[in-house]
Amino acid sequence: MGSEPASGHYVGRFAPSPTGPLHQGSLLTALASWLDARCTSGQWLVRMEDLDRPREMPGARGLILKALERHGLNWDGDVLYQTDRLAAYTRAVSLLKDEGWLYPCTCSRRQLLGLSVYPGWCRAAPCAPGAPQALRFRVSDQHYCLNDRIQGLERFHLEDSGDFVVVRRDGVFAYQLAVVVDDQDQGVTHVVRGIDLMTSTPRQKALQSALGYRTLSYAHLPVVVNRQGEKLSKQNRAQPLSLTEPRPAVVQALKALGLPVDDHVSASSLPEILDWARQNWNPLTLCGTKSIPETTATC
Ligand code: GLU
Ligand code: ZN
Repeated sequence: MGSEPASGHYVGRFAPSPTGPLHQGSLLTALASWLDARCTSGQWLVRMEDLDRPREMPGARGLILKALERHGLNWDGDVLYQTDRLAAYTRAVSLLKDEGWLYPCTCSRRQLLGLSVYPGWCRAAPCAPGAPQALRFRVSDQHYCLNDRIQGLERFHLEDSGDFVVVRRDGVFAYQLAVVVDDQDQGVTHVVRGIDLMTSTPRQKALQSALGYRTLSYAHLPVVVNRQGEKLSKQNRAQPLSLTEPRPAVVQALKALGLPVDDHVSASSLPEILDWARQNWNPLTLCGTKSIPETTATC
């Protein structure tokens, strides 16, 4: 069983996938996680979640790091690239295998089309020999309580979302596994990220517990949505941030995060604005908020 993070010790992280440059929505996440770490003199790490090569946009890694720098979001230590971490993921998978948590699954995407929950076909039945196999984590009939710092107390029943993939059929380590292994190895204590990832949290807690890792503190932020209610993303053509004029985007993001930014603050220099924000950061003002309209969050 994991233990609670030691009080007074804070290691946060921002973990972008290099599928495109930073936009106002991802800046809001980065800024909130940076403020949460820096308001207590905590550490803040950056991890590039670059395992899904086909979804990667060439040049995005560099653009993301440059945008963080330009917006004053300095990080500690070296950026961690998940593609350099395959040995650690392999070790975690063999541990899970040895403990009986995993089973091979040969179901194809076509077979599973239209099913939101994996029906467990390969759990009991032996797989067809020679077919490409994914590895799935066997969830138990367990309830997970998440005491989210922003969203409050949530109860999840993992069986409702089904056995999930930790290694894909193409051999790529799945997001759930990589995140859990990295958060543990990087000593992360606090996760601040978008609410769209909240349904992943119980799976990550199940993996942490199966691997004997520490438990983490979670805060799931509202996401910025467009007029159609969709999360801002590269897919719906969210505009990349300006690298020459970072202040308006930071000011907008702070307002969207509920900080009482006035004209005096907006007219200050970027380091002054960020300093002020560190002193005034209070995630409780976001309590229970699930989305922020793009019109409030963009300039
Ligand atoms: N790489 C994920 C994303 O960009 C975030 C992972 C996380 O914060 O746990 O959506
Ligand atoms: Zn299957």
